[in-house]
Amino acid sequence: MHELSIATYVVDLATQHASQHEGSRVAAVTLRVGSLSCVHEAALRFSFDLVCEGTPLKGAELHIVAVPVSVWCAACQAERELPSIQRFACPVCGAPSADIRAGRELDLESIELVEAALP
Ligand SMILES: [Zn+2]
Repeated sequence: MHELSIATYVVDLATQHASQHEGSRVAAVTLRVGSLSCVHEAALRFSFDLVCEGTPLKGAELHIVAVPVSVWCAACQAERELPSIQRFACPVCGAPSADIRAGRELDLESIELVEAALP
């Protein structure tokens, strides 16, 4: 399961990050996920909650920022955001383009830490 390995990787990174800041825990993690990255959001959320159990991330929120697909249009000499991934063509002039500039991302954008409550 693809999403489970992504969730494990994200939780590992965030756990390391939190351990470098003593007395803090992870409140939220933000991921940028491109439309072409083949990540199933519901499966990723489910995996994230599963992997967080028993780690400093337990109860942390997962924010997913969807990144639309953009291609480079040689005719317009501009980067164009595709309204749909059904058709790889410039939405302005209609020229076909497979020169993908965005949409494949799977990046950990930020890790939010908060001070852990004292016992
Ligand atoms: Zn164009």
